[in-house]
Amino acid sequence: MRVLIVGAGIAGLTLSALLRQKGMVPQIVERADDFHASGYMLALFPMGNRVLHGLGAYDAFRAASEPMDTYTMCNGHGEPMQTFDIAGALGKYGDTRQLSRADLLQLLRNAAPDVPLRMATRVTALVDHGAEVEALAEGESLGRFDLVVGADGIHSTVRQHVAGEIAMRPTGWGGWVWWAPAAAAPRTKVTEYWGAGRFVGVYPVRDRVGVIAAGPIDEIGHARIGGRGARLAELFADYRGVAREPFAAMPASDRDMFFWALEDCRAPHWSKGRVVLMGDSACAFLPTAGVGASMAMESAAVLADELGRSDARGVALALQHYETRRRRRAEGAQTASRRIASMMFISSIPVAWGRDHLMKFYSIEEFGKEIERSLSEPI
Ligand SMILES: Cc1cc2nc3c(=O)[nH]c(=O)nc-3n(C[C@H](O)[C@H](O)[C@H](O)COP(=O)(O)OP(=O)(O)OC[C@H]3O[C@@H](n4cnc5c(N)ncnc54)[C@H](O)[C@@H]3O)c2cc1C
Repeated sequence: MRVLIVGAGIAGLTLSALLRQKGMVPQIVERADDFHASGYMLALFPMGNRVLHGLGAYDAFRAASEPMDTYTMCNGHGEPMQTFDIAGALGKYGDTRQLSRADLLQLLRNAAPDVPLRMATRVTALVDHGAEVEALAEGESLGRFDLVVGADGIHSTVRQHVAGEIAMRPTGWGGWVWWAPAAAAPRTKVTEYWGAGRFVGVYPVRDRVGVIAAGPIDEIGHARIGGRGARLAELFADYRGVAREPFAAMPASDRDMFFWALEDCRAPHWSKGRVVLMGDSACAFLPTAGVGASMAMESAAVLADELGRSDARGVALALQHYETRRRRRAEGAQTASRRIASMMFISSIPVAWGRDHLMKFYSIEEFGKEIERSLSEPI
């Protein structure tokens, strides 16, 4: 079967390695010049990282990552509201660990290095020829395929072919993301500060610490403060109790930081003819539950499973089965992320005060029940 995967991100590289293992040789195209273009931190729960066992990449994953043993939720004054024992609560399902996106992409690529990969190539359109699909990159034909997989992320081009224009669902908030040195936070402990109109998250990976400082876009976005990190530090200076080290280590230039509009979207259906969506292109995630990458890897495993039991003639049925197995589960996790976002992204001081009091009575079982259910259910 001639398969083109659009996007060498988390879903695309996972699928390419799994298909290669089944004796297929897909092709991948990626618009970025290299894997290090946009690095940030990722938590990987067992539903995603267990795919790596089958790829023989689990040891490499452990070596590249840091355990996420505890998660502490503080209020905007730095006072802890809850500490969740992640290792204790989810350990029976496997490891929950954190690593940089670049390290994850590299280890997925190492699992199938001979799959043809063309970087710096942006797919711009697909043409349906009935029994095959042609992919175009800025007017150049990349060839005709039995199947095109859109693994091209939240702002997917392939999604337009499958489902037309889909509106993004904004939260009104956005966040600046940067790396700080490892010394800026304790290892294995994730700490988040939930304030009123402010949020800070500190996520240690193996050799450094990923940081996000978020708030309403009209207060902290480009239009208001430009790209200067120093101005952002000023805005968060009144956010007392928050660890200051990550702010002290903020890069001076916006080249080393990026602004992330906190929004998501969901495609109403995941395939059309011989074109299918996978990962964020199908169902994109807010970072609030930290499961987007895990869900993308899990979707890749299910799609590889269905394609491994099909040939080019059976593609439509394989895609139908894939969507039936995946859509409800992915959208359920997306809904849980939205629910957490509605508690996290609060601007009003009295409402945040009420939320902080409620959070003290929240148990790990309650907070993590969607993740726990995802882990305990068969896929
Ligand atoms: C700051 C940040 C923190 C996050 N933290 C977490 C976390 O802790 N845990 C978690 O599970 N998730 C997290 N996420 C979400 C997670 O990164 C995504 O859910 C996940 O990357 C989705 O995988 P994907 O393969 O669908 O998309 P991506 O990984 O985004 O990959 C899409 C790829 O397609 C390429 N592409 C796009 N358009 C084209 C085109 N037209 N032609 C060719 N190539 C194209 C892109 O360059 C990219 O490489 C975070 C996201 C961000 C931004």
